[in-house]
Amino acid sequence: SSGTWAGCEVFENYVSILDNPPDDEDCCICCEKLTHASGYGEGKKDEKVVFKLNRCSHMFHKLCILAMYESTTKNGSVQCPTCKTIYGEKHGNCPDGVMEYLTVPHSLPGNEGHQTKVIIYHISPGIQGPEHPHPGKRFSCRGFPRVCYIPDNDKGRKVLKLLTVAWRRRLTFTIGQSSTTGESDTVTWNEIHHKTESGRNDSGHGYPDDKYLDNVLMELSVQGVTEADLSS
Ligand code: NAD
Repeated sequence: SSGTWAGCEVFENYVSILDNPPDDEDCCICCEKLTHASGYGEGKKDEKVVFKLNRCSHMFHKLCILAMYESTTKNGSVQCPTCKTIYGEKHGNCPDGVMEYLTVPHSLPGNEGHQTKVIIYHISPGIQGPEHPHPGKRFSCRGFPRVCYIPDNDKGRKVLKLLTVAWRRRLTFTIGQSSTTGESDTVTWNEIHHKTESGRNDSGHGYPDDKYLDNVLMELSVQGVTEADLSS
């Protein structure tokens, strides 16, 4: 019923409710028996509800796993505290904007013979929402539109598709303090590196860099964006 899932809709697709939890197992979050009340909610409604994660089958009190989610990721994905299996899609808090891309007939250094995909991100200053560090306060945007470059080869085209998945999940930028400028409440890159220079690589943000596509594929996978997202 809506009562059961209210406030924990994120779990609805990943768990089942266990009607008869085993009486010889503990909840590894609160260390109480599964058949006893959650250490996180004694006296609360649902204190004895037990969730079983549906791929790894690990079991926890509903109130315990909810407390864990609220105090950690709170981003739409859930990680089993016992075996680290990840459920769901991680979503970020990138402000609204536009991602566009085009193909240009020039080669990046180290990628001779291939054209280039140019990605352009547009974000405008605004007011922070509840998902940002200072809700209600303004945020700034420096250096937008930000223009990025990817070689137009098979791996580069795959990276571009995955970057569009990351953008849809609001993972590309976040709001915080820029480590380059020190400014707070500003839009910054968020753990997925982009190449913002096309002609040289003095800054580390340009070409040539023959490791770049593999590195960014790794960074995308850390955010939960993988090739599996392209088939669905
Ligand atoms: P930041 O300094 O907080 O760093 C976050 C991440 O972005 C780090 O991983 C860092 O290595 C990476 N990063 C830093 N400078 C980068 C760059 N020039 N290109 C690509 N990645 C970079 O991040 P931030 O505040 O978002 O960006 C860093 C600076 O780069 C800012 O001052 C921004 O204005 C500037 N920038 C300007 C343009 C432009 O077209 N004028 C484009 C991109 C970035």
